[in-house]
Amino acid sequence: MSERDHEYGAASGREAGIPPRSERDHEQESPEDRAFREEARAWLAAHAKPRRGESEFTRRYASADNSPAADAEHVRLCREWQRTLFEGGFAGINVPKEYGGRGGTAKQARIFAQEQARFDVNSGVFAVGLGMVVPTLLAHGTEEQKYRYIPALLRGDEVWCQLFSEPGAGSDLAGLRTRAVRDGDEFVVDGQKVWNSGAHHSDMGILLARTDVDVPKHRGITYFLVDMRTPGIDVRPLRQINGVAHFNEVFLSDVRIPVANVLGEVNGGWAVAQTTLANERNMIGGGTGGGAGVGFGDFKRLAQEYGVAGDPVIRQGLADAFIRFEVIRYLGARAQAAIRAGKMPGPESSVLKLSMSEHVARNGDLALAIQGAAGMLIGEDATQNGLWQQQFLGQWGIRIGGGTEQIQRNVIGERVLGLPAEARPDKTLPFRELLSS
Ligand SMILES: Cc1cc2nc3c(=O)[nH]c(=O)nc-3n(C[C@H](O)[C@H](O)[C@H](O)COP(=O)(O)OP(=O)(O)OC[C@H]3O[C@@H](n4cnc5c(N)ncnc54)[C@H](O)[C@@H]3O)c2cc1C
Repeated sequence: MSERDHEYGAASGREAGIPPRSERDHEQESPEDRAFREEARAWLAAHAKPRRGESEFTRRYASADNSPAADAEHVRLCREWQRTLFEGGFAGINVPKEYGGRGGTAKQARIFAQEQARFDVNSGVFAVGLGMVVPTLLAHGTEEQKYRYIPALLRGDEVWCQLFSEPGAGSDLAGLRTRAVRDGDEFVVDGQKVWNSGAHHSDMGILLARTDVDVPKHRGITYFLVDMRTPGIDVRPLRQINGVAHFNEVFLSDVRIPVANVLGEVNGGWAVAQTTLANERNMIGGGTGGGAGVGFGDFKRLAQEYGVAGDPVIRQGLADAFIRFEVIRYLGARAQAAIRAGKMPGPESSVLKLSMSEHVARNGDLALAIQGAAGMLIGEDATQNGLWQQQFLGQWGIRIGGGTEQIQRNVIGERVLGLPAEARPDKTLPFRELLSS
């Protein structure tokens, strides 16, 4: 098994195809949760447009319009919605009130996400912040750090990105080589990160850097909170297969980060990163719910629109898709139950992430099979401005990001099935000895 069983990007909710709300979700709700659902539904109806067919957000996602103006407009809309949530008391549903949240439960967060998915709204660019940074700050932050960063994030003031991967450290994340050297009250950081989703429009980043090369690789890493406007940070967008420049390379040269921005202990960053990565897998798998995803009903409507809903092969594909949507919904509920019981997402998040990536891949194939020859069209010529083609092309992002399918299989093999562990001779050697290899 490789060291990194992780990762993701801001579009995950959309790419993942979060299952839609089902009436069965209400069956076992307590009176309080049912009342919360009603309150959320009424508030959403008063503040957002219902999602009918093609939404403004999915249209933008499908358009692959990469211009800075389109990106800025997307960020503006996400900020605006996050701010509306905050002002309405619906931002950070299960975040303690003292940090600007609602002080509710994880179950209520899921209920709200289910209700919100029926409306044409999205906080997409806050995915890393809300799904990964907030839980990590809550688990490892000082009080000062929590008060400084969590309310600003929930208010929609600060967009965050994740600066973990490097050209030589993806699956083997603990092999990262970006260095941070202490200089008085600051660390000076030099190195390169890559595949950093949304870094080009982020205000803050979570950064892993090596602070000790004389200990084994996991023990010399520190976790930093970095202001993306710090001199020495150079963000260069990378274009993906679907035409969108969703992620970036980030170069760091003599970047000065205050010691106060270390999250957790110096050299103790690996443990902090595990909280981020577990939440990330869970988020990609849909365990935290929410997002303007594509649901089973969208496939059914597409098949009806193309007049192939009665075709036996397509019908079989639709039946398979329905089963997958249901299985993923239950896997998500299981991950949520673990979180509610106060457990860190465990290997079940790998099962969820792997199931979700296979689900997305097969959904892409099904959507294009439904469209037949029209599946070859793209952009404005295609149905729903090419939304389905984008879903098809976007599958590789989700199959790699958050820890590749192979890595998830390794985790499941070792931690769930108890198979012999992969040999890791580099685990105990001082990192300095690996640098020369
Ligand atoms: C859409 C997207 C968004 C991303 N967003 C971010 C982000 O915001 N921030 C960030 O830091 N990173 C991000 N990443 C990076 C992501 O975490 C890495 O791409 C991922 O961890 C894989 O690492 P790698 O690309 O270096 O591939 P490698 O680790 O080099 O893997 C290459 C191939 O080898 C296989 N492999 C490697 N090790 C093993 C092993 N031990 N056993 C079996 N097979 C193995 C892999 O499965 C893969 O097929 C993103 C990636 C994508 C696709």
